Amino acid sequence: MPDVSHLPRPAFPFIEVEENGDAVLVAQRCGKCAATYADQNRVACGHCGARDDALESFRPNLEGTLYSAVIVRRGYPGVPTPSFRP
Ligand SMILES: [Zn+2]
Repeated sequence: MPDVSHLPRPAFPFIEVEENGDAVLVAQRCGKCAATYADQNRVACGHCGARDDALESFRPNLEGTLYSAVIVRRGYPGVPTPSFRP
């Protein structure tokens, strides 16, 4: 197994960092109903209920239409939350 300790760690469970440093999206797909999920930690399909062995990881197609995006800023106790300035 290659040493990847020098690579940045992804902040989200649906992003993996390759050995060359590129960040890639990784999702799960249900082999029974084809439902897709943007996380990697599901133990069952939320649509049909299939268990672990039916869920497979894949790299989603990066072409498409973005309908919505949200940035959530949340402060920790005692740390001021930065304000948004467009
Ligand atoms: Zn399913």
